[in-house]
Amino acid sequence: MTALLIDGKKIAGELRARIADAVSAMHGRGVSPGLAVVLVGDDPASDVYVRNKGKAAEAAGIRSFEHRLPAATPEADVVALVRRLNADEAVDGVLVQMPLPAHISAARVIGEIAPAKDVDGLTSVNAGRLLLGETGLVPCTPQGSIILIKSVLPRLEGKNAVVLGRSILVGKPLALLLLAENCTVTIAHSKTRDLAALCRSADILCAAVGRPRLVAGDFVKEGAVVIDVGINRVEDGGKARLVGDVDFEAASSRAGAITPAPGGVGPMTIACLLRNTVLAAARRRGLPDPNL
Ligand code: NAD
Repeated sequence: MTALLIDGKKIAGELRARIADAVSAMHGRGVSPGLAVVLVGDDPASDVYVRNKGKAAEAAGIRSFEHRLPAATPEADVVALVRRLNADEAVDGVLVQMPLPAHISAARVIGEIAPAKDVDGLTSVNAGRLLLGETGLVPCTPQGSIILIKSVLPRLEGKNAVVLGRSILVGKPLALLLLAENCTVTIAHSKTRDLAALCRSADILCAAVGRPRLVAGDFVKEGAVVIDVGINRVEDGGKARLVGDVDFEAASSRAGAITPAPGGVGPMTIACLLRNTVLAAARRRGLPDPNL
């Protein structure tokens, strides 16, 4: 079997178009959603991410506020900036780009973000809401992964889902979202035994590990939906290139549908950040959630 390609770029483009429509309707009601992104230091990858987030926000009609601070900025100054953004009426979403320099506690800074503006869904309040099944702001990469899965499998009820990775950013929230869709969910991690056999039980297999080609072809059940969250830089014939956690060639001969990496989950992450910004803007004003 040759898998159907789940085109993350196309699906993200469609979502961004719906977001732009929702933003334009909000403008009509005098509401102008705004996203503030804080970057501390000059990590080149983070710099690209922050620039792309700002550009994507503006393309959707969302105001973008970039705050770039030097690497040596004291933790107290970053906290003070987050508090100012919490209080700023023009700002609906506050995102602090990770990783932070070593002298700053990420937990301390994230803990300062107002839950209503926590568009990365990383605060204890939003993580707790996800666990309890309450409405909140959900981390962007897992939310994007669910949208991709549903693009090929509208009803997830009763499916066996295996999530590789248990990070707070991806693995755990993705497992909770799949559980909320009534999947039977297993979380695998670095201490899991016989990963290949476990993965072969999955109707939905999600890899969020950060190890190039960890998921070999024979990990994949015939017809499974495979979501590759991983982004890994590898040397290939002297050239650096990005690959996912899944051996794409081998897996696509068995899977029913598969995301490319890059070009799958990545574009959805940014689109879901914009989605969260619009949801936050609506909820803060007591407006109904736009249909996104
Ligand atoms: P992380 O390092 O925080 O977590 C990795 C997880 O993988 C851990 O829970 C660990 O237990 C598990 N793991 C390690 N070795 C394993 C093994 N052999 N078998 C099974 N599990 C194993 O990483 P993260 O932040 O969750 O990110 C995971 C990957 O997803 C990375 O490649 C990252 O770059 C990528 N990522 C992509 C996006 C995107 O937008 N596409 C967003 C976030 C992260």
